[in-house]
Amino acid sequence: MSIEANQPTDTRPLVLVVDDTPDVFRLLKVKLRHEAIRVEHARGGADAMAMAHAIRPDAILLDIDMPGMDGIEVLRLLKVDAELHDIPVLMLSAHSSPEHKTTTFELGAVDYITKPFEFVELQVRLRSALRVRELIALLAQRAQLDGLTGLWNRTYFDTNLKQCLARAVRHQHSLSLALLDIDHFKPINDLYGHPAGDLVLSAVARTLQRECRGTDSACRYGGEEFAVIMPDTDAPEATLVCERIRGAIERIDWPGSPGLRVTISAGVVGERAPGRGSADAWVKEADRCLYLAKHEGRNRVVLSPSGASGHTQEGGTGCSAAA
Ligand code: GH3
Ligand code: MG
Ligand code: MG
Repeated sequence: MSIEANQPTDTRPLVLVVDDTPDVFRLLKVKLRHEAIRVEHARGGADAMAMAHAIRPDAILLDIDMPGMDGIEVLRLLKVDAELHDIPVLMLSAHSSPEHKTTTFELGAVDYITKPFEFVELQVRLRSALRVRELIALLAQRAQLDGLTGLWNRTYFDTNLKQCLARAVRHQHSLSLALLDIDHFKPINDLYGHPAGDLVLSAVARTLQRECRGTDSACRYGGEEFAVIMPDTDAPEATLVCERIRGAIERIDWPGSPGLRVTISAGVVGERAPGRGSADAWVKEADRCLYLAKHEGRNRVVLSPSGASGHTQEGGTGCSAAA
């Protein structure tokens, strides 16, 4: 395995060629040099599985006849592996029998090219497989975005919070979660109309994105409620972020809606070294603090004194910061 494949700055699609004949790889590498792709080589079935896990290729060109684990077995293993099953596999084999084709298509291969092959044919089939993969990735991402605000949606929030929590527990890194809710939003809709209400939601979303770090996830949790997941951020830092957001929203001018002033309330929960609490417990605690912020007069940030696991936090004072 060469190091060049793993350079994180190179965003060109990565193609893994699995073939026990080095000449096939050398030929493909030369022929594909003008394509906007990177190519890597695995010399056998076991090597292919290890490399697929390590480099996560965007497509695999897979030979069938190989000593040890053959291409059909590799294909079978790829398709039952939850982390690899969606990588498009193009068979590249000297076998031209219908049996080989039907078996591999039934196992989940997206294409079958017989050796010897016309290079242009392989080129267009590979391009097509990569294009389909890119479109699927785009659709998958769109399915996790909120249509109105462009923030991550609730589906993404639910999965991402679980993942961030698991990571924070494993590495004992700090984690914070904030739930934010626009104050008296219903009267804004009633007085200025729903389109104006939608503009408020979009502007609040832009403010969240602007004030958060690239590693944070700003999400639309529901109607006029937002959530920010902040990895590597402790409770006092997260409170400062929310204070910044609160102040920025309060200062927005709304030229199209004279007299309008928009404020938000936030509930924050953070831990320096999270215990094994559930994501639900984190949301529940942030929501409890949000409720307190509303109860104490709105336009303020309330930090949980205990964190999600109920232990008193260093730096967590249970403070309520108001405008
Ligand atoms: P509070 O300060 O207690 O949060 O009061 P509130 O009026 O903000 O809360 P409430 O839950 O009573 O009202 C939320 C409103 O948000 C009601 C709903 O019509 C509105 N809403 C939810 N989603 C959208 C949306 O996508 N666009 C618009 N314009 N309004 C929305
Ligand atoms: Mg509200
Ligand atoms: Mg609400």
